Amino acid sequence: MADILTTVSTAINLATRLREIGKNIEDAEFKNLLADLSLELADAKLKIADLVSENASLKEKLNEVTSATGERCPSCNNRTFKIISTRPHPTFGDLGAKEREYKCSTCGFEESKLVDP
Ligand SMILES: [Zn+2]
Repeated sequence: MADILTTVSTAINLATRLREIGKNIEDAEFKNLLADLSLELADAKLKIADLVSENASLKEKLNEVTSATGERCPSCNNRTFKIISTRPHPTFGDLGAKEREYKCSTCGFEESKLVDP
């Protein structure tokens, strides 16, 4: 994806060189079109930089989800449902029962489970 930024930078340099050459051409329409082209290219470069950054974070997220080894989340079905805490169950703790808190790192779904001793 870094290549596409290089391509746009090259295109911007070409437009800049055309502007230099265009100084010798007394054609208002030519100059206006060249100015428009330079603006469009600068805008495209910014948008591409955003897409490159978004793509990198999406890849990271996808890798996180596909390589997850937790339980399946009852809400989103990804294997990112993991235990975050455990404690004696408020009612059945005296009998050895535990309450485990689970949270999904993909969708944020939380649930507690009663675990028999
Ligand atoms: Zn989930």
